[in-house]
Amino acid sequence: MRAYVPSYRLISPPSLGETLDVLSQDNGAWKPFAGGTDLMVLLEAGKLPHKNYVNIWNLEELRGIEVTDSHVTLGALTTYTEVQAHPVLQKEFPMLCQAARETGGIAIQNRGTLGGNVVNASPAADSPPALLAYDAELELISKTGERRVAYSSFHRGYKQMDIRPDELLRAIRLPRNSNGISHYYRKVGTRKAQAISKVCFAAIGQTQNGQIANVRIALGSVAPIPLRCAKTEAALLGQINNPVTVSKAKTLLTAEISPISDIRSTRDYRLQVSLNLLEDFLSQLA
Ligand SMILES: Cc1cc2nc3c(=O)[nH]c(=O)nc-3n(C[C@H](O)[C@H](O)[C@H](O)COP(=O)(O)OP(=O)(O)OC[C@H]3O[C@@H](n4cnc5c(N)ncnc54)[C@H](O)[C@@H]3O)c2cc1C
Repeated sequence: MRAYVPSYRLISPPSLGETLDVLSQDNGAWKPFAGGTDLMVLLEAGKLPHKNYVNIWNLEELRGIEVTDSHVTLGALTTYTEVQAHPVLQKEFPMLCQAARETGGIAIQNRGTLGGNVVNASPAADSPPALLAYDAELELISKTGERRVAYSSFHRGYKQMDIRPDELLRAIRLPRNSNGISHYYRKVGTRKAQAISKVCFAAIGQTQNGQIANVRIALGSVAPIPLRCAKTEAALLGQINNPVTVSKAKTLLTAEISPISDIRSTRDYRLQVSLNLLEDFLSQLA
């Protein structure tokens, strides 16, 4: 049942400074409201627990895509539509563009933000595996200062993150080092569009002198958090890409992920699909 709307408060401070002031008050009583595409679903279902929201949609400091020699920095309010349209992202970070293209429908892509996808922390979200495989870093800002967090250490448990209630995610930084890299992204869902992932797989890698190099693998919907698979990566790094290596990697991936059966899929299906996608990625790398 829809929540009782008058019991909620939404304020729109005119500046970033005033927004951070509000977030620092009342011990976490206020939460950011970006595109609202996750929050409004909870409101409609009568399951939105927090009552006080700060609209951040108009904060210019959280917008824009900046490109330097070493990094691409995306403001937290970057929408999926903006991701897809950006030429440097298309060329160097195609998995992020594909994730954006396969997220929701056009209305969601126009309104949903990358920052909201990250902080909503759904294990089934589609951008996080791509961001993990691209070794993203997060810029967090609060009244007391700024800090950077490796995205691989941001998710600590189901919906638990390395972010304080007084902090905003300001931006997502992607290192530019895509020369010779292969990119492999697959979202497996019930339909081609408007489906929540059963498994989401993102990986990059390259072959140097016959050996696997620079490999990074991340999965969604197979653990309580979007998961970077460090042990599987370690088993592949420096190895010849042959059936023995593939078999070892599959054993390690089986141990690293912890898929469950739920309304969308079963544990066995998720495990089998994850292994198939790993094998497909490695065969394409070869
Ligand atoms: C019909 C529909 C289809 C969808 N399809 C997909 C899909 O295919 N794949 C997918 O991954 N998701 C999907 N989603 C989920 C949603 O659209 C995305 O997660 C979206 O990116 C959320 O962004 P937002 O700006 O709307 O977040 P909001 O709803 O505004 O916020 C989400 C959470 O993040 C917090 N937050 C937002 N921005 C910040 C910030 N800068 N700093 C700190 N905290 C912040 C909020 O407080 C809130 O807890 C879908 C949703 C709907 C309704």
